[in-house]
Formats: sequence, structure tokens, C-alpha cells
Amino acid sequence: MTEHSNDHTSQSEHNHSHCIEQALETAESLCAEHGQRLTKVRRRALELIWQSHRPLGAYQLLAKLAEEGFNSAPPTVYRALEFLLSAGLIHKVESMNAYLGCAHADKPHKGYFLICDECQNVMEFDYQDIHKILIDKAATQGFQLRSETIELTGLCSSCQNGDDEGGCK
Ligand SMILES: [Zn+2]
Ligand SMILES: [Zn+2]
Ligand SMILES: [Zn+2]
Repeated sequence: MTEHSNDHTSQSEHNHSHCIEQALETAESLCAEHGQRLTKVRRRALELIWQSHRPLGAYQLLAKLAEEGFNSAPPTVYRALEFLLSAGLIHKVESMNAYLGCAHADKPHKGYFLICDECQNVMEFDYQDIHKILIDKAATQGFQLRSETIELTGLCSSCQNGDDEGGCK
């Protein structure tokens, strides 16, 4: 269908600490803008999800927060995830049942993903063209869309080149 991807995540030499910094900055400013509080547990959950471009499962997150002495009772963790999702700061990758930080949280959008079978890195790809086609097609069928999930699997460019580390550390 499409080959468009956010190429910054496909380059092994990219500076991932910059991704994390950027994500946290965006989160702070979006929360301030909407009068929401980026509590300690929300912030740390976001940071942990951003540890890599591999989606993180709720139980992995729970375990990490527990290690760090947070109140990691499941409801606390799920509420934090709910918050981050509704704020658009993370996406849920349905097929992996895991969460991915979003690099474009300031522009609300659907998450359409390219998932690498080898390194499990997930890239978002530009959804706008496809979104429009889907909406139009559904409308011609008289169908009202509730959710859209597009998750394509394959091999990222780093894994095709045989890089050990995959797309991003
Ligand atoms: Zn990165
Ligand atoms: Zn996104
Ligand atoms: Zn890969």
C-alpha cells in the first residue's frame, strides 16, 4: 500500500535520548496547555515506554514501576496508560498488545504502524492519505467507522541490512 515511514526511527545511528527528551517536553507542554497534570507516575510511565521504539506491554511497565518503588498496583498503572492514550502521547499497538510512544502527540492522529518481525521496532507511518481513502470507502458503503487499526508487519531497513541492533537502541 504505502512505503512512507518516519525515517528517523529506521536509522540505527539516531540519537534516541533526543527522542525521549522531545517526547517528555511535548508531554509537559500539552498537559500544561490542557490543564492536566503530568503526575510522577504518568511521566515515568511515558519515559519507560519511550525507552526504545519497541512497544512495551502493560505488565512489563508494571514490573519496571514496581522495581522503582512506585505505587504499581494495576489500577494505578492502567489509569496512567489511559491518561497517556487519551492525551495522544502513546498509541496502543493492538497486535502486540503493547504501547508505543508517539513522536507527533501535538497533532492528533490515528496510529498506523510498520512492525518489524525481527527487532520488534515499530514505526508510525503517515496516515493522512490512507485515512482519507478509508473514510471515503466506508462512507460509500454507508458504514460508520469506530476505530481504525492498520498494522503492517515485515522487516525494517536495519534488519534487512543485517544490523545487530535493529532500528534503534
Ligand atoms: Zn528514538
Ligand atoms: Zn502517533
Ligand atoms: Zn528490524
